[in-house]
Amino acid sequence: MSYVDTFYKRTLQSGEGFARLDRDAECDVCVVGGGLAGLTTALELARRGRSVTLLEAQRIGWGASGRNGGFVSPGYANGRDAIVPVVGETAADELHRMSIEGMRIVADNIETLGLERARPQPGIIGALRTDGEAELHRTRDRLDRSFGYRTEVVSRPRLQELLLSPRYFQGLLDPNAFHIHPLEYALGLAREIERLGGSVREGSAVVETELESAEKRVHTGTGTIRARDVVFCGGGYTSGMLPALQRSFLPIATYVLLTREAPELIATAIRTRAAVGDNRRAGDYYRLVDDGRRLLWGGKITTRTSEPRALGKLLRQSMVSTYPQLAELKVELAWSGLMSYARHKMPQVGQWRPHVWYATAFGGHGLNTTAIGGRVVAEAITGETRRIEAFRPFGLDWTGGPLGMLAVQLTYWGLQASDWWRERKAA
Ligand SMILES: Cc1cc2nc3c(=O)[nH]c(=O)nc-3n(C[C@H](O)[C@H](O)[C@H](O)COP(=O)(O)OP(=O)(O)OC[C@H]3O[C@@H](n4cnc5c(N)ncnc54)[C@H](O)[C@@H]3O)c2cc1C
Repeated sequence: MSYVDTFYKRTLQSGEGFARLDRDAECDVCVVGGGLAGLTTALELARRGRSVTLLEAQRIGWGASGRNGGFVSPGYANGRDAIVPVVGETAADELHRMSIEGMRIVADNIETLGLERARPQPGIIGALRTDGEAELHRTRDRLDRSFGYRTEVVSRPRLQELLLSPRYFQGLLDPNAFHIHPLEYALGLAREIERLGGSVREGSAVVETELESAEKRVHTGTGTIRARDVVFCGGGYTSGMLPALQRSFLPIATYVLLTREAPELIATAIRTRAAVGDNRRAGDYYRLVDDGRRLLWGGKITTRTSEPRALGKLLRQSMVSTYPQLAELKVELAWSGLMSYARHKMPQVGQWRPHVWYATAFGGHGLNTTAIGGRVVAEAITGETRRIEAFRPFGLDWTGGPLGMLAVQLTYWGLQASDWWRERKAA
């Protein structure tokens, strides 16, 4: 029961662990899964005076939540173009507003809990690999008009001062978005849950549930929790949970590499502390870490977890094709993590039956969406709001099993091909 080797594990300052469930206990709400979805749900409930027990199979933040790129920005894994046809303009706007609230929940937690170890750094740049300044102006104006959300268009000459790559045209800087050490953030939330009287239990995999009667029972190998409500938050690692949940998500692997220390070399390529993502549909994202001494670079997806070092090589190729001057930059470490994707690529946040809830399938855009997902579940359990209904159009659809996995991999390769074609035309 230990964390996989990542930059975040290597730079962890919070040493504490949490106890295993070793006896039977009772509480208002049992939350299953100690990623950011489960942690935010439990914290929001504890803040509303509910007694909570959170059960995590491994360690807090052991899954995607402690291994990701650390980008915290508004939006969902699926874009507005795909959301509007399902729910209409007004509901899509409301969902977007909630995604901004999710980002602010993370910022507020870091501030109010004094989580300096999460090392928040402001700014994320969306860099275009095809010419598109007019479109960026339209996006900036729409965000400002619809949400009062300010972003800045970065002209090509200015962008080329920050990112010394022949691949980029213009960019959109979001100064409200930020990037963090996500594992420290997750541990900070867990500490706060316990400070408020909740129980956080690691090494406590849920192996069986009894959900039919008014008093729900959640069993690990070493104890049983009796609770009025249960919330399932297993992400891409969901196991031993509701069959309906098991069928409704695809575990998709994605990859991150960390370079060796080379501050001077890296500064020949990247001269901003803002994080960067490109506009390809199967794009890369990266940021300076370790005070500018190393580069953390993420991208690629596969439907079966491949050897991270092999995928690290592909990521490195991508890095060098973006920045040829980094050809000598060596890779120190690469790792993978599983994301949970629904067929509709939107979060699954809702109620399965009375007092049984789920918050999962946050895909590759989970840092803000787990926060708002957790908050609306807590609001629904306490009867405070029914904002959870905003996610109702995105239910627990069957993913198609192995054929669904094949379709995802083929779609991804198709996106890569269309990215290549668009860039070739623009060159
Ligand atoms: C490599 C990578 C990079 C990413 N980069 C970004 C990014 O930069 N920005 C962004 O917004 N999103 C990013 N994401 C997505 C984001 O990390 C996820 O959407 C989010 O962390 C999901 O949180 P979660 O709590 O749903 O799942 P997880 O963090 O995976 O947590 C689920 C937990 O449930 C536990 N569990 C499962 N079954 C049981 C059981 N039976 N009993 C007890 N516990 C159980 C697991 O052990 C696990 O710890 C990235 C994801 C990956 C993998």
